[in-house]
Amino acid sequence: MAMHYQGFEVQIFEKIHKFLRLGDSLGLGENALRLLERWGLHDNLVAIGNKSEFMQIRHWKSGEIMAQQPLMDMAGYIGHRGDYHQAFLDRVAELGIPIHMGCNVVSYDEFQPSITLENGEVHKADVIIAADGIKSLARELVLGFQDKPKSSGYACYRAYFKGEFLKEDPLCREFVEKECVNIWIGHDVHMVQNTLRDGEEFNWILTHKDTTDIEESWFQPGDMDDVKKIIENLDPRIAAAVKKTKECLDWKICYRDPIPSWISKSHKVALLGDSCHPHLPTSAQGASQATESGAVLALCLKLAGKDNVPLATRVYEKLRFDRVRKCQLNGEDVRDRWHSALKTVEAGEKLDPEEVMIRNRWLYPFDAEADTLQRWNEVSAVVEKELRENKITPLFNVMPVQA
Ligand SMILES: Cc1cc2nc3c(=O)[nH]c(=O)nc-3n(C[C@H](O)[C@H](O)[C@H](O)COP(=O)(O)OP(=O)(O)OC[C@H]3O[C@@H](n4cnc5c(N)ncnc54)[C@H](O)[C@@H]3O)c2cc1C
Repeated sequence: MAMHYQGFEVQIFEKIHKFLRLGDSLGLGENALRLLERWGLHDNLVAIGNKSEFMQIRHWKSGEIMAQQPLMDMAGYIGHRGDYHQAFLDRVAELGIPIHMGCNVVSYDEFQPSITLENGEVHKADVIIAADGIKSLARELVLGFQDKPKSSGYACYRAYFKGEFLKEDPLCREFVEKECVNIWIGHDVHMVQNTLRDGEEFNWILTHKDTTDIEESWFQPGDMDDVKKIIENLDPRIAAAVKKTKECLDWKICYRDPIPSWISKSHKVALLGDSCHPHLPTSAQGASQATESGAVLALCLKLAGKDNVPLATRVYEKLRFDRVRKCQLNGEDVRDRWHSALKTVEAGEKLDPEEVMIRNRWLYPFDAEADTLQRWNEVSAVVEKELRENKITPLFNVMPVQA
C-alpha cells in the first residue's frame, strides 16, 4: 500500500496458498494508523481494536490494581491479528495490487535483481522488498550467513477462543462481560488478558521463564498441565478462566541480535518488518514499526527516483535503525520492570504506579513520512558520499551469531 501510494507498481509474492485467521492479539499504534489512514485504511482498523479506555496492571496473587493506564498509551488498538490482516488484504484488493499466492521465494539474484520461486519462475523488478518475517530467507542473503535466534529465557503460552461460556462462572464473569485488558505481574512471570467483540472472544497470553529448546513457531501446541502449574497462585478470578481453556500454543520468545545492514550488497534487496527488526511482544509495536518502515522505504524510493534505488534503500535503513532499536529495547525494559516489581512490594516499599506502566507514549506522535522529508537532505548527502566511496557504515557493530 505504501509503494502504491507513492505511485509505484507493486507485485506481492506470498508462499501461503490461503490466508487463515492466525495468531491472536496484535497492537496497532497511532503512529501506524496515521500512515494507514493515508493509504485508505483507518475506521475499519479502529473498529477491530479493543474499546476499553483503560487497562489495569494487577498484582499476580491478589489481583489488586497496581496501576491503570489508558489503552492508547499502552499498545494502541489491540485486535485480532487475522482481522487486521483481512482489512489490509481487502484494501490491497481494492487498490488492484496483485498478490500471487502459493509463491514460495527460494532464491534471490540481488544484482538483476530478481526472485526465483519454487516452481522455477523468475520475476524481475527495480527493487525487491523482503518482508518475509522472522524466519527470513532474504536476511541470509543480506548477512551472508544464517543467523541463530537466541532464547530470551522466556516463552508464552497463548490461547484465543470464544469466551461466552466463561460468563457462566461468577468467578471470572467480569472479564468477559465487556471488552477489557488486564495484566497480572508476578515474579518473572506475567499474564495478559484481552477480551474482544463485547466479550465474545477471549485471549490470554502467559509469559513465563523457559530455558528449553528455542524453536520459533506460531503453531507449537502448549501443555495445559504446565500452564496450570505456573498459575497455581494466580488471582483465582483469572485463573478460573485460564483453567477452563481446552488448548493453547507454546511460543518461545526468541531474540535476534540487531543486524549490521538491512540491505543487500547490490543495494537492491531491502529487508523490512520482522525480517530485520523483530520485536518482543511486550513492545506491542511489531506491526506498527513494520508499517512505519514500509512508509519510509516507499517515500525514499520516490525521493531518490527509480534510477537511484541504492540511494533510497541506504537512506531508508539509516533513517529507521535508531528509532526501531529504541522501540525494541522498550519491550525488554517493560518486561523486566513487570517481572521484578513484586520484590519492591514484598519488601514493604510503596510502588510508584509509573514503575509498572508501559512507556510507549513517545512513539505515537511520530509521523514517519514527515520525518523522512525533514531528514532526507542531510541523510542522503551522507549516503551519496558512502556510495561514491563504496564504504557503507554498518548500522550496528556486533555481528549476530551464526546458526
Ligand atoms: C502465523 C503468524 C501469527 C502471528 N501472530 C501474532 C500475534 O498473535 N500477535 C502479534 O503481535 N504478532 C503476531 N505475529 C507477528 C506479526 O504479524 C508481525 O510482527 C508483524 O505483522 C510484522 O509483519 P511482517 O510482515 O514483517 O512479518 P509476517 O507477518 O511474519 O509476514 C511475513 C509473510 O511473508 C511470508 N513469507 C515468508 N517467507 C516467504 C517466502 N520465502 N516466500 C514467500 N513468502 C514468504 C509469510 O508467509 C508471511 O505471510 C504473527 C506472525 C505470523 C506469521
